[in-house]
Amino acid sequence: MFCKNCGKELSDNAFVCPHCGVLVAADDRNGEKRPKNKTAFGLCIAGFVLSILSLVWLGAYFCITPIVSIVLSAVGVHLAKKNGDAHGLGTAGFVVGIVATAIWGLIWIAAAAWLGALIAIV
Ligand SMILES: [Zn+2]
Repeated sequence: MFCKNCGKELSDNAFVCPHCGVLVAADDRNGEKRPKNKTAFGLCIAGFVLSILSLVWLGAYFCITPIVSIVLSAVGVHLAKKNGDAHGLGTAGFVVGIVATAIWGLIWIAAAAWLGALIAIV
């Protein structure tokens, strides 16, 4: 890798640039070696997309999809955090998933109660 300040070549595990004395950031030191966690990223995206789909449409048919989106997002965020990657999408999926679960959960409960009342009358 190269020094950000003076541009001279450094050893990969250098803490300080020997040429100009500037501190080398930990992110720069590990950035090249650390593999991006594709599983975490994929789970965050899957959780986010599923939570949005659940909110606008899927939750009306399958009451399980908002819950699945929460689980996917939560696992994605957990893995991403471990790896030091961004996990904004997973967090968004987690929140939207909870909202979708709350909304559709209430609708499902209301529908079940309504159906129960109808059956009781008949
Ligand atoms: Zn330097």
